[in-house]
Amino acid sequence: MKTNDLYSQINKIKKEKDVVILSHYYMSNDLQVETKDGGFVDFVGDSLGLSIQASQTKANNILFCGVRFMAETALLVNETKQVFMPDPSAGCSLASSINAKDVIELRKKYPGVPVMGYINTYAETKTQLDVCCTSRNAIKIAASLPSDKIIFVPDLYMGQNLQMRVQKELGKELILWNGACEVHEAFASHNSGMKRAIDAEFLFHWEVPKTLTSILDDGAKGMIGGTTDILSYVKKSPKKKFYLASECDLGVALKKENQDKEFITPCIHCAYMKQNNMVKLLAALKAIGSDQQQKYQVTIDKKTMQKAKMPVLRMLELSE
Ligand code: SF4
Repeated sequence: MKTNDLYSQINKIKKEKDVVILSHYYMSNDLQVETKDGGFVDFVGDSLGLSIQASQTKANNILFCGVRFMAETALLVNETKQVFMPDPSAGCSLASSINAKDVIELRKKYPGVPVMGYINTYAETKTQLDVCCTSRNAIKIAASLPSDKIIFVPDLYMGQNLQMRVQKELGKELILWNGACEVHEAFASHNSGMKRAIDAEFLFHWEVPKTLTSILDDGAKGMIGGTTDILSYVKKSPKKKFYLASECDLGVALKKENQDKEFITPCIHCAYMKQNNMVKLLAALKAIGSDQQQKYQVTIDKKTMQKAKMPVLRMLELSE
């Protein structure tokens, strides 16, 4: 089928079934084409942007191209809607590195210390968090907590990267957990290109190990931040060459917005994100409203839902 015909078919089914399609920046190129550009995706964004879109949509059905914790978050902020994924088994190494019992144990070890959890956690873990954060709003959320110590879970590298800013800017200390995103962690063993990128600016995601991001402390040019921070930094920078240390397909959005700029990257993909594809998306869309829909639907039991939505709603309030 021709691409245009495929897009028309998807848009027709979306309309008939009242579906909004949300897609993360880490999706492959074909799953990032927005309706305003002749495609079928209603919104492409980072975790925070997609959570906000999910909380504001009028559509009854959300088809989420991302990983499971993201689709769960969309449901937590919009429990009256139905949330679907092209492949609900798409997981995340970081989200799997911690569970609710682990957080309960941390609370026992550090009584009275608030727990700030990265959005990259499953709903079951979120039931034990005080507040969530994303890579975009972590400093703001940490500043809002009335404590000079904060337990931050589950990303060790992001925590180590945040630690210095949190200490310097807020006078607070982070207590960390030993979880990692296997994609951003892999940059440590694919760093040979960095040496060749001497004249480039470095774009590090918070989840990249400190052993690499420390070159910024040693005077290298560039930034460290969340996905949206990376996009806005490149837009504003007069530089023409960048070394990207984040999921390879973030390069799609970067190139789209900055066609005159060059991006060097070892191109590391997230295998979980890449469980989404056009064939599965179309199958999920067709299944909505049929007796097959539970194969693609993301559900959370009522008890978990009531507790897990609190830290997410608190984050959204504090992000305004
Ligand atoms: S890129 Fe990392 S944090 Fe994001 S879904 Fe993949 S494994 Fe999880």
